[in-house]
Amino acid sequence: IGTTAKVKIAIIGGGPGGYVAAIRAAQLGGDVTVIEKHKLGGTCLNVGCIPTKALLHAAELLEDASHNAAAFGLDIKVNKVDWNKVQTKKESIVNTLVSGVSGLMKMNKIKVVNAEASFINANTLLLKYLDGSVDKASFDKVIIAAGSVPSLPPIPGIENKSICIDSSAALSLSQIPSSLLIIGGGVIGIEMAGIYSTFGTKVTVVEALPNILPTMEQELVAQLHHKLAQSGVTIYTDAKVIKIESSATQAKTTISRQGKEESVITDKVLYAVGRKTDTLNLDLDKAGVNTDKGKILVNDEMQTNIAGIYAIGDCLGQVMLAHVASAQGEIAAENALGHHAKYDGKSVPSCVYTIPELAGVGLTEEACKKQNIDYVTGKFPLSANGKALIMNDGFGVVKVILDQRYKSLLGVHILGPRATDLIAEAALAIEMEATAEDLIATIHAHPTISEAIREGVLAAEGRAIHM
Ligand code: FAD
Repeated sequence: IGTTAKVKIAIIGGGPGGYVAAIRAAQLGGDVTVIEKHKLGGTCLNVGCIPTKALLHAAELLEDASHNAAAFGLDIKVNKVDWNKVQTKKESIVNTLVSGVSGLMKMNKIKVVNAEASFINANTLLLKYLDGSVDKASFDKVIIAAGSVPSLPPIPGIENKSICIDSSAALSLSQIPSSLLIIGGGVIGIEMAGIYSTFGTKVTVVEALPNILPTMEQELVAQLHHKLAQSGVTIYTDAKVIKIESSATQAKTTISRQGKEESVITDKVLYAVGRKTDTLNLDLDKAGVNTDKGKILVNDEMQTNIAGIYAIGDCLGQVMLAHVASAQGEIAAENALGHHAKYDGKSVPSCVYTIPELAGVGLTEEACKKQNIDYVTGKFPLSANGKALIMNDGFGVVKVILDQRYKSLLGVHILGPRATDLIAEAALAIEMEATAEDLIATIHAHPTISEAIREGVLAAEGRAIHM
């Protein structure tokens, strides 16, 4: 019996899309090479999910020590925040995880090439190494997982890099700024606002739309907005940044809102107006891959218009989340090895890591209205949940949306402590097309915040117990 040659698979990019695709392809017997121009782990591990949440955890500890501990009579005094140590801890978490990915590559016998890849044709890649040397390599299949980079808004004066920073620079500031203006009230802008305001920075957020976090459940966003404002974050909505005039140490940002212009002086200006795909240097046209304004077009099997070339994650310019990139990576890898797996985003949770956290899955009430769906909602406040009160954190609510007729779960939205962990139950329920009865029949442990999800469903059915 002759041996079958292994399918040679190249993966461009070693972020959560690319490295997960690589592992799945290796599990299925592929001969896998990951080509990464910077560091394994991509945006998520190096300048995204992980470092932001490490800084947020430090902020939460500060919040607990400064406020929550006192509520239980614990007289803890935080004498100072050693920002260097905060940064060192953050870096050590990032490094542990990045070397973990490197270990996973070795364990799965995946080759890692530190180079920038571009297409010569549909099967051949040009590899540019850091030392300037180049090489060519041919593959049977290619999975593009090139990710995204911050968008620079066209605002006069934003070029001064020592004052105007992107999210990556905001994670590695040498000191806590005394004031910060954030352009953009999306997830990244709002998370940064929460982190820095907890560390004592005077934060101003400028959002062009009528509301911050426009894709999340707006009733809960309004409560989070109120909470952030209460904790000292100034949020201007329906407002536009006109220009930035900066010196070596400060910026004067001119904002237009309510028909008037006003200026805000801050130490730093963070632009967080979204991210754009990092596909410009891939020479996709040489492979004939179709794109739309830099976004790679794929079908639900993650395949581009060219047989054997797949694309996943942020470089599609759709839902820019690490868990989406990873899910799509597994699907692309399976399909590159002859399967026909399909991506279905209906149970993708969206999370905002603030204090308190906001998370949602499925449809928002606004989306139900737009789609003319006959729905019913149920809400349960965390002020009536034992565990939330034990955590001195009764601010928040669970909102459940059910289909009026079939009582299937359409959406679940949570504002409160650990919302981002709790949302997994709702994601599973939506994935399994669970009904209200399924959630009600599921016994939730007491005391946990998860009880509030069941109570939210009971409320939608007009039979909440603790309210
Ligand atoms: P990336 O992680 O961007 O990885 C792409 C990789 O490809 C990079 O390493 C890049 O160097 C490499 N590459 C690009 N072009 C080439 C080339 N030509 N040759 C070789 N290598 C190449 N998402 C969440 O789900 N949860 C969060 O809490 C969260 N927080 C975030 C916070 C911030 C501040 C930011 C910026 C993002 C956050 N995200 C979060 C988004 C998340 O980081 C991305 O959705 C995720 O990293 C996308 O994964 P990816 O593999 O598609 O791309």
